[in-house]
Amino acid sequence: MSERIRADVTIVGGGIVGSAAALFLCRFGLSVVLLERGLCGAAASGVNYGGVRTQGRPVSQLPLALRARRIWERLPEFIGIDGEYLASGHLKLARSEADLHSLQAYRERVREHGLDLHLITGRAFREAYPWLGDRAIAGSFCAQDGHANPRLVSPAFARAAQAAGARVIERCEVTQLEHTGAGFVASDGRGLEVRSPWLLNCAGAWALDVARRFGDSAPMTSIHPGMAVTEPVPRFMDVNVGVEGGGIYGRQTERGNCVMGGSRGVGKGSFYAQPSTVAMEQLCRDMAQLFPPLANAHVIRFWSGVEGSLPDHQPVIGPSPGTPQLLHAFGFCGAGFQTGPAVGEALAELVHLGRSSAPLDAFSMDRFAPDIAQSTPAAAGSRPRPPHAPQARLTEERD
Ligand SMILES: Cc1cc2nc3c(=O)[nH]c(=O)nc-3n(C[C@H](O)[C@H](O)[C@H](O)COP(=O)(O)OP(=O)(O)OC[C@H]3O[C@@H](n4cnc5c(N)ncnc54)[C@H](O)[C@@H]3O)c2cc1C
Repeated sequence: MSERIRADVTIVGGGIVGSAAALFLCRFGLSVVLLERGLCGAAASGVNYGGVRTQGRPVSQLPLALRARRIWERLPEFIGIDGEYLASGHLKLARSEADLHSLQAYRERVREHGLDLHLITGRAFREAYPWLGDRAIAGSFCAQDGHANPRLVSPAFARAAQAAGARVIERCEVTQLEHTGAGFVASDGRGLEVRSPWLLNCAGAWALDVARRFGDSAPMTSIHPGMAVTEPVPRFMDVNVGVEGGGIYGRQTERGNCVMGGSRGVGKGSFYAQPSTVAMEQLCRDMAQLFPPLANAHVIRFWSGVEGSLPDHQPVIGPSPGTPQLLHAFGFCGAGFQTGPAVGEALAELVHLGRSSAPLDAFSMDRFAPDIAQSTPAAAGSRPRPPHAPQARLTEERD
């Protein structure tokens, strides 16, 4: 069967970013087709650690992260479920005086940007977190951060977009993409063809395959964070925990499983990744040391995932340097679950309003292509609305 669809916007990639963009575009009244190679929310967006934290973000990402926080706090209004989102707070641990100084400096730096952090040291720290091992000497607490279940949240964004009017097509790999001069044409090589004036590249770690069709590129590589989860144990960890300098992070679900992350896994081809055995052994040792109640807990699963990363640890979000009405959003460097909903909202704003409420300049693709940037007048986040911005509703033609 062949099918031709016309829409205002085509989105490649049904992770949390593409699905959130679809949802917000529908809320603006635009017609959307979301094309996903596998199942929506099954790639990085569904296998991640589930950390929903603003603490530790670079200053440039705070407006987006704080905007995302407002969505997380009202999640059921957007996606119909709470996604096990828990505003538990996020505690970043210091294991040395140098770590503590670094946490203090960060707190000063982000205060004026609206991030309110509370340093806890000495006896107050021990009394507040008696379940932590001796290596932790202090912590920086962000009360509004938390964690959620990515397996529930990310597919729910796609379902919410569908309920809001988006045409969501799963098991549909976009293999052909072009701009005809009149607009974009995306097809799967099996008879499906989608035409639209706008194209959103939300293809995660595979986004360069899309970008390169239009002469765009960025130095993205794939990373594979290592993850583990224990059997359910009696509740003790009432906050989402990270460590200054990285290495290990942990959270406990309502039903008692402790989800741990740390180190990097190994890519298995382009689509899959598995944790490294040596790194997981180390993670288990670190886990028992940092969280003594887990010393005898069984780990019931190890896993990893595929995520795009860029050298400056900032994503690419915004217009293509060379192709009007093509927007990219990828390379979240292991931290795009929290910001994903706000990235989707920003993309929708760029399409509908011609600008995003959150500043996106730091994420411009131009930073990797200065020669292209010089010939491109508009900057991310402030691009004027094109004269032929879409108005038409979605129409379908079936052969
Ligand atoms: C193990 C792990 C732990 C992480 N932990 C956290 C965390 O605690 N907190 C946090 O904020 N972030 C975390 N992240 C990062 C976060 O998961 C990602 O940044 C975020 O999910 C990226 O969302 P996305 O929609 O851009 O990409 P993805 O979820 O990867 O979605 C991209 C989608 O595009 C589809 N696609 C690609 N090419 C095509 C094509 N040609 N045609 C059709 N579809 C296509 C793919 O199938 C995929 O479903 C973690 C990531 C991993 C892997």
